[in-house]
Amino acid sequence: MTALDPEIAERKMQFLFALRSKGVTDKTVLEAMEKVDRALFVKGYFSDRAYEDMPLPIACGQTISQPSVVGRMTQALAVSPRDTVLEIGTGSGYQAAILSHLARRVYTVDRHQRLVAEANDIFRDLDMVNITCRTVDGSYGLPGQAPFDRIIVTAAAEDPPGPLLAQLKIGGIMVLPVGQSDAVQSLIRVTRTETGFEYDELMPVRFVPLLEGLGRD
Ligand code: SAH
Repeated sequence: MTALDPEIAERKMQFLFALRSKGVTDKTVLEAMEKVDRALFVKGYFSDRAYEDMPLPIACGQTISQPSVVGRMTQALAVSPRDTVLEIGTGSGYQAAILSHLARRVYTVDRHQRLVAEANDIFRDLDMVNITCRTVDGSYGLPGQAPFDRIIVTAAAEDPPGPLLAQLKIGGIMVLPVGQSDAVQSLIRVTRTETGFEYDELMPVRFVPLLEGLGRD
């Protein structure tokens, strides 16, 4: 099927409608999400469900997040075109691709080499030259490229990891889920001020856990 297929066009329209009805109202974020075809990031059996507002399985036992949650997190991150953004948890690469339309530069890391290789192939196909994707344990951030204007974590830690707080610029914003991995977690926004950190709780979410070390594949 092509992008002009009327059924696909209808599904994409429903997709954007669902995003708006779930609180993704920022025009710039919606435009970025309209540009990124989620079907490219969902492979195999589930690709048919790419335009539904639900998380879906990807390789290495991980998930591509629910689009409305991706939208709400991107909105909370308040990215501006001059920003350098760090994402922890590349997964399928979908969130990073959206950020690539909004930021000057995007660094995204995952502990699974296979996910990084697959995401890099997609970024190359889409000519997204402002994304750098690496296999590292993101709990320690990316000290060589720090500090960052924005940090987004798409796996849940019990608390915001210290190295990530340290790599946030003053005035910078970090959005991340916190809480136990088998319970409902909270999405929080951390803003670094001259004197410390401010925390806002945004909404309940459910993410895979932020794990230590590199994955086996
Ligand atoms: N943002 C992704 C979804 C991420 S799923 C998307 O748009 O598709 C969470 C990802 O976090 C998984 O791929 C998992 O491998 C990764 N992850 C978990 N712990 C990590 C860590 N310590 N460092 C880097 N990546 C990690």
